Amino acid sequence: MNRRYRKTIIAGNWKMNKTATEAKKFADDFKALLPKTKWCDVVVCVPSVDISAAVRAFKDSRVAVGAQNLFYEDHGAYTGEVSAAMLCDLGVKYVIVGHSERRAMFGETDAIVNKKVHAALNAGLNPIICVGESLDQREMGVTMELIALQVKSALAGVAAENIRRCVIAYEPIWAIGTGKTATGEQAAEVCGFIRATIRAMYGARIARSVTIQYGGSMNPANAAELLGHEDIDGGLIGGASLDAGKFMDIVNAANQG
Ligand code: PEP
Repeated sequence: MNRRYRKTIIAGNWKMNKTATEAKKFADDFKALLPKTKWCDVVVCVPSVDISAAVRAFKDSRVAVGAQNLFYEDHGAYTGEVSAAMLCDLGVKYVIVGHSERRAMFGETDAIVNKKVHAALNAGLNPIICVGESLDQREMGVTMELIALQVKSALAGVAAENIRRCVIAYEPIWAIGTGKTATGEQAAEVCGFIRATIRAMYGARIARSVTIQYGGSMNPANAAELLGHEDIDGGLIGGASLDAGKFMDIVNAANQG
């Protein structure tokens, strides 16, 4: 983390878990644990049907509600999809774009991710853009090449003044939901490389202001070590964000640094 130049953001990704009733219960439990002082930014990305309940439940708490996906068109005949304006209207602040589960299971390409990033930014949302390599790609030695391609494609055409509103989440696919965490060194190496890629595109001043998260089995036991690295500015947390106590332990680890 480097709080001098950029925000530390701890974001939960509930995936397809929790009903609206359960979201409200989580919010009540989590708010009761919130520290009074020293704050990193906290975001909870909930299923779209939970958004209204979550926004209501987190009102006045400084916890922002995020979505897990959006469609890039403004409106029209796209059955089942949700637009950026619809999310904004509900009070959503962040939206995850290009999660590896969406890339793998729902055919999201780099070009689609780029369109979604633009749609989010145009509507006033902050995209959390996920990038990351598979185990095969890591073992083949193409991690950095792939990450550079994903970052450059996702940000293609994004104006310099909007880059600060983008969060990049480095999520090695082999570490998501597997209990296998990247070591601090492995995560920091790629997060540093992502910053260097942004530096080459937008210059040093902008690159140092971008929040770059690590995601992949982050939990209360490993959070402090991961967040201790200069280029890791927070976490995108799946499994451990479903439990108010565990998620707060990660927030507390970020607040310690
Ligand atoms: C994720 O899905 O973004 C994630 C990091 O999941 P987990 O923390 O469960 O590995």
